Amino acid sequence: SRWVYSFGGGGADGDASMKNLLGGKGANLAEMSSLGLPVPPGFTITTEACVHYYANGRSYPAELAEQVKAGLAKVEQVTGKVFGDAKNPLLVSVRSGARASMPGMMDTVLNLGLNDQTVAGLADLAGDRRFAFDSYRRFIQMYSNVVLDLDHHMFEEILDEHKDRLDVYVDTGLTAENWEAVVTDYKALVERELGKPFPQDPQEQLWGAIGAVFASWMNERAKFYRRMHDIPESWGTAVNVQSMVFGNMGDSSATGVAFTRNPSTGEARLYGEFLINAQGEDVVAGIRTPQALTRAAREEMGEKAPSMEEALPEVFTQFKSVVEKLEQHYRDMQDIEFTVEKGRLYMLQTRNGKRTAKAALKVAVDLASEGLITKQEAVMRVEPGSLDQLLHPTIDPTSARDVITAGLPASPGAATGKVVFDSDEAERLGAAGEAVILVRDETSPEDIHGMHAARGIVTARGGMTSHAAVVARGMGRPCVSGAGEIQIYEAKGEFRARGRVFKAGDIITIDGSKGEVLAGTVKMIEPELSGDFATLMTWADQVRRLKVRANAETPLDARTARQFGAEGIGLCRTEHMFFDGDRIAAVREMILADDEAGRRAALAKILPMQRADFVELFTIMEGLPVTIRLLDPPLHEFLPHTEEDLVQVAKATGLNAEKLMRRAKELHETNPMLGHRGCRLGVSYPEIYEMQVRAIFEAACEIVASGKAAPIPEIMHPLVAKGEEMRYLRQLTDRTAKQVLEEKGQTIEYMVGTMIELPRAAIRAGDLAENAEFFSFGTNDLTQTTFGISRDDSGRFLNAYIDKGIFEKDPFVSLDQEGVGDLIRIAAERGRVVRPGAKMGICGEHGGDPASISFCEEVGLDYVSCSPFRVPIARLAAAQAAI
Ligand code: PEP
Ligand code: MG
Repeated sequence: SRWVYSFGGGGADGDASMKNLLGGKGANLAEMSSLGLPVPPGFTITTEACVHYYANGRSYPAELAEQVKAGLAKVEQVTGKVFGDAKNPLLVSVRSGARASMPGMMDTVLNLGLNDQTVAGLADLAGDRRFAFDSYRRFIQMYSNVVLDLDHHMFEEILDEHKDRLDVYVDTGLTAENWEAVVTDYKALVERELGKPFPQDPQEQLWGAIGAVFASWMNERAKFYRRMHDIPESWGTAVNVQSMVFGNMGDSSATGVAFTRNPSTGEARLYGEFLINAQGEDVVAGIRTPQALTRAAREEMGEKAPSMEEALPEVFTQFKSVVEKLEQHYRDMQDIEFTVEKGRLYMLQTRNGKRTAKAALKVAVDLASEGLITKQEAVMRVEPGSLDQLLHPTIDPTSARDVITAGLPASPGAATGKVVFDSDEAERLGAAGEAVILVRDETSPEDIHGMHAARGIVTARGGMTSHAAVVARGMGRPCVSGAGEIQIYEAKGEFRARGRVFKAGDIITIDGSKGEVLAGTVKMIEPELSGDFATLMTWADQVRRLKVRANAETPLDARTARQFGAEGIGLCRTEHMFFDGDRIAAVREMILADDEAGRRAALAKILPMQRADFVELFTIMEGLPVTIRLLDPPLHEFLPHTEEDLVQVAKATGLNAEKLMRRAKELHETNPMLGHRGCRLGVSYPEIYEMQVRAIFEAACEIVASGKAAPIPEIMHPLVAKGEEMRYLRQLTDRTAKQVLEEKGQTIEYMVGTMIELPRAAIRAGDLAENAEFFSFGTNDLTQTTFGISRDDSGRFLNAYIDKGIFEKDPFVSLDQEGVGDLIRIAAERGRVVRPGAKMGICGEHGGDPASISFCEEVGLDYVSCSPFRVPIARLAAAQAAI
């Protein structure tokens, strides 16, 4: 079989489509050669040879030696130089090149082929002895480090000794003779360390480097990188052997890197830097300050050193036309490496450039506008999750970060404010116009007002779906959760982390996108929702099938949702409305009531407030569907938790403290998640659900009476398990609706449906569909109940599961498509048998996760519903799923 593919000299055996076989670098070098671009000739040893190497006890395929020899002969023919020839030596570079770019996996070996004889030949060819011996010592150091595994510090020490002795401070101060002496010492070092001399035979050098590249595929760095980026071990790496060109042959030589567009802003202008008289790694190493490519860029930066456009005008003109050709050819922004040797341009690498979310957006929209790609391709070019970076203020990447501690990136964006430990205090300061960051061990529904008033939230405990995380994402507040190093001493008004103390009132900044807590203020970048963002969203909307709704209950959430393009509300969690202002008092009164009559009296107080909530929501949503979920959490969540709070509440409300305490004890549950919650509340206290349904219909009638767009309420029952339960709830809903509508003499179109949150509900979905007109998959609970894992406590062990590869991802973040997904599939199928065309959607956190959205498209759901700030992400992900 064939293990070696040549390139250069105006043609190539491979092309860009052969990345799997030739690796990214090899495939693009072949493609550039075929395009007639100036590529130093070379050859690529395939990834299959690497796979063979590992499958056969680290031995090469039998034909490899022969094919490498032929490949080398071709390079000699094109360059007119001979490998190992003392007069006219060919030198090569040896580099790894996997299918996916793996930066830093293996260092490059340059100048391979140099030895005591060829170094003289190189000196003659270049007309520069100093350059030749500098190249030789670089080669010995690189080869010894990468192939012979010797620590490069030992070489640097020798160099420093020479410099000290000669009293020079920079490498350029060394003469040819000085370098020659360094080479002698380097060789002596190798011989001393390894007990044998540095290899002088170029063939031995070449095979040593090839073996080192293959071996590097299994080094710890590479393994780690693969794990981080989901790159399979089975791919292997290719090896690229390429004739050397020198950017360090004087002032008409140079080396540099370029992007065809600005990778951080996307601006359509050549961007990059270069160094005159330097070799590739000098640009990256940061020893010398690189120069700008264009004059305009140099002037903007106010630099003195001439740009490439000014220093090497002719080569620059050629370079500009080459990079333009590359971008046109690849139809994407390119990241390019090049070298100029004595006024001649050589292209060493091109690939699609990595970019920020902002740049990705601009480049995609610009390329489509320029006609280089279609609108659909543009939609596919932007990672939906990356939009998060654009929807919130973010920390300016160039600013310094004083990290106090780190936790989970629970809700994106950044915020600065004063440390506050108490939600009431947060509300008070917030109302006074102060920016505050709420810092707590964890949050509960009682903290909603404080979270709302805060610019951001930090918790010491809790995972990605903890209360703080879910609510913060819903509100669009940045949040760092589970910052375990934080210890809060609320009584003292301080927290400690990593040995530092921060007091209430101290300024901190949180980076919810990274999961970091920083000291002081940090510079921010504001989001930009018009322009390219709006354009790409329009293109996405043109192709998607799935509707996108939002989970929202407050007017602010609802407005945000619409601003981000939500097509309705998919989940209004009514319990959040129960905590607001005066309601909590009435809710507690209801909970404390001795009998139904007492409960009804308290509910009558809640009714007008609840009705006003719905009037506001319907008004904002202007006739779009609104799914309202009736009360879900167990009642004890509405009671104060500590004895101290209890006494305080009793005092403030005039409720009996003893009774409050007794009731709190009665309601206490060992497994609240599996307890007296969801529609079980509606079954045992129908008057609660009746009040809610009444509030919904009275609100709807009020809207219609005032001449506004008629709302389409969708009344949703949580945690239903049985057909009989659903029948009971349906009757309760219809009966109440009928009463209200008769009283008002109006008709309102509405639907009654259920959440699917329990395995039994999914399996018996047919029974539920008899009385449920729609299904909404509550995948938060469905994940909990399918796995039997609590979403509030799983943070403690999920990491171990992810580390050990038992879970690929947190199932509360990205849907477990095999298990939970199968239940969704089954439920959708069985539900549709009984009620063809029944409306189905998802409203768990997964509704905003791109991979889960793609699954929803596959199963043929009608909509996804997610927190307002994820609506654009969902729109884009839904479009990509449809393409
Ligand atoms: C769910 O369980 O997926 C859901 C949306 O409801 P909640 O998160 O309020 O339990
Ligand atoms: Mg639920």
